[in-house]
Amino acid sequence: MDEATRRRYLETIGITVWQRRDSLTELQPEPAEPPALDKPQLASPPAPDPVVAPPAESGEMPPAWLDEAPPLEGNWEPLEIEPVVPEEAYQASPAESDVAGLDWPALEKRVKGCRLCQLREGCTQTVFGVGNRQADLLIIGEAPGADEDRQGEPFVGRAGQLLNEMLLAMGLKRQQVFIANILKCRPPGNRDPRSEEALKCEPYLLRQIALIRPRVILSVGRISAQNLLKTEIAVGKLRGRIHNFGSSAIPLVVTYHPAYLLRSPEQKGKAWADLQLALSVLRGVAR
Ligand code: URA
Repeated sequence: MDEATRRRYLETIGITVWQRRDSLTELQPEPAEPPALDKPQLASPPAPDPVVAPPAESGEMPPAWLDEAPPLEGNWEPLEIEPVVPEEAYQASPAESDVAGLDWPALEKRVKGCRLCQLREGCTQTVFGVGNRQADLLIIGEAPGADEDRQGEPFVGRAGQLLNEMLLAMGLKRQQVFIANILKCRPPGNRDPRSEEALKCEPYLLRQIALIRPRVILSVGRISAQNLLKTEIAVGKLRGRIHNFGSSAIPLVVTYHPAYLLRSPEQKGKAWADLQLALSVLRGVAR
């Protein structure tokens, strides 16, 4: 992605990009389109890291909001919050434990036919998740809304459009990542998922995570973060650091939900810092 395009995406999501005066020369020539992301490519050295189109950094002054955000590189603070999640929390309940052995087609079929909670009765269809099943970055949101329920795909409404723009600002296309939710079915009237619904649905998401084996999970919003990290701590306190998810300690970064960012655009700077934190993990700068 060329510099001008990246700036356009950043501006669209409400981020001001500052540039040093002495670097205000010609924009960089457009680099080659990043290759489609899949794990075999990642595994074959000495190819350059294909995870993301490199966001240009030269000549960029950190926006003012970065003062509050974590540094982009260097030593990360150790987690103040020890993982609060007992190992058992990531294991499926006995009734659903066989989900842990399903392959993609069987898992998709199981989700389609799921009646473990009441939600399926009130929604149009299940929303399984979409994207690259070998993605390095897994985005986890809350639950389908009206648009998602209609189309059977997560994040297709206004919040989804903002999410797409946030991804593009990271140098990633929507198709390069995998997008899923805590719940596969829309709660009536978009109410918050209940904890028993999230628990019933959890084995499906855990199996998706196990099949994808992402390098980073980006958890968007309170419901996602609190369910994944098994905590009641507010998003504002969970964001800005790297958590470890599950027994494989997958790096997990929390950020604000795009729907919240639409209502509170002044928080976009913090979200952008979170995305850069996730990017630095993808690039191996932070862990
Ligand atoms: N919000 C979410 O959390 N997920 C969606 O799929 C859509 C909106």
